Amino acid sequence: MRLYTNRIDFFNDISEEIRLYLPSAELELYEIDSEHKPELAPDSICAKLTNDSENFYAESRYCCASEEYCYSHTTQYRNETSLIEKRYAKRCLKVAVFRCLALAMPNARIPWGSLTGIRPTRLLRELISTDGEAAARKLMLNEFDVSNEKLELASRIVAVQEPILASIRSNDVDVYIGIPFCRTRCLYCSFASQLRTKKTDMASYLAALEMDISLGAAMAWEHGLHVRALYLGGGTPTVLTANELEHLIKHTLAEYAIAPGTEFTVEAGRPDTITAEKLQIIRSCGATRISINPQTMCDETLRSVGRDHCAEDIVRCYHMARELGFNCINMDLIAGLPGEDSSAMQHSIEELLKLAPDCLTVHTLAIKRSSRLHEHLDEIVLPDTGEVEAMTAIGANGAESLGMIPYYMYRQKYMAGNMENVGYSLPGSICIYNIDMMEDALSIIAHGAGAMTKRVFPGEHRIERIPNPKDIDTYIGKLGSTDAARRRLFDS
Ligand code: SF4
Repeated sequence: MRLYTNRIDFFNDISEEIRLYLPSAELELYEIDSEHKPELAPDSICAKLTNDSENFYAESRYCCASEEYCYSHTTQYRNETSLIEKRYAKRCLKVAVFRCLALAMPNARIPWGSLTGIRPTRLLRELISTDGEAAARKLMLNEFDVSNEKLELASRIVAVQEPILASIRSNDVDVYIGIPFCRTRCLYCSFASQLRTKKTDMASYLAALEMDISLGAAMAWEHGLHVRALYLGGGTPTVLTANELEHLIKHTLAEYAIAPGTEFTVEAGRPDTITAEKLQIIRSCGATRISINPQTMCDETLRSVGRDHCAEDIVRCYHMARELGFNCINMDLIAGLPGEDSSAMQHSIEELLKLAPDCLTVHTLAIKRSSRLHEHLDEIVLPDTGEVEAMTAIGANGAESLGMIPYYMYRQKYMAGNMENVGYSLPGSICIYNIDMMEDALSIIAHGAGAMTKRVFPGEHRIERIPNPKDIDTYIGKLGSTDAARRRLFDS
């Protein structure tokens, strides 16, 4: 597909709008000046943006087969900082492209409208604070074409998050520790996680990770930072042996001097790596919450997506965790897995309802370009958009029937049905880390290969990030320079 535009700096944003309607579109970019009006051949789109001192003017034309569609959109020019101006300019052009394509494909269901590349809850919160609640809702519905149902979801989450975000203190940080290893690779995984095999030199990784943690903790001490929440994630942290886990957790608690009772989550993740001994260690080290992640309770799907466990293993691990005293357990499901439909989702939810976890995360399958799923797309049957929507609704109803409320959400690229991932929780079991992280509300000191340290500058609309190298050897070799970069970030 040909894309003509005078704003190649917005190429990614325009592409995302196009892919909402045409997910597999491959775009050829042609730069034009704002005066130029190219003849459009079939399968081409033109997106232009101009402005005067009062308004931005965007125009989009789309030619498919022999029909041409056109939409023009105007947004008021606000005399603000260049960063904010750019944001308004981008929004104006995205709306024009989105609505132009909507004219050509009026039956497409795009529940989050033209919103891409921004967390809907963050946007809604910002709009409420600048324009007031009524105007914010109007903008979401009338400017961004968000559906009523999704606006209600975002509004509920913003309200639930408000006291948790308000409780952040100026010297708070969260700490993340990553174990980028797994036992097998899931079909849909795009994460830079390695398989742990007999040849894996885990000792070297853990030695480096513990050094990384010591360096980060020293920096946190020097800056007077206080740890609000600790998260041990993956990959699959429970791929570590019981001894490795115990050493790592105790080292972290000691170096950061984490106060007893601090929120501490461990992604116990896949049941094929969970043992009573590991759970006991996690519990005795003070973890306040764990995740046991089924993804689905259908054995055939678990096999086909490369998970090395069955539904019965999940139930066994869950009961084991409860018996050991865990009183906050999260479980998650994915809507839209290959070969599944609403009845499969209904089955999974019914099985989880019997277990009654404290939190439930309902993901929507994202077809990431670096996953095996993407490579084999032509051989795999995926549920269609309507079915995925029905599946997420089953997940939502299941969560609500357990008395849970939605408390965080995020969207990713390439999500089936343009849906979202939603975390539900019993009111007293909300994960602070998930909110801080997804709302970019708090700085995070992150340890481990591929982990991302983030500094949030409150009130400045500014976030800066330091990614740790994904490659294990590079991560180990660059500990010193990563620490120096992290220090510079927190010194600024
Ligand atoms: S458990 Fe998570 S990180 Fe590991 S392969 Fe599966 S999706 Fe990827």
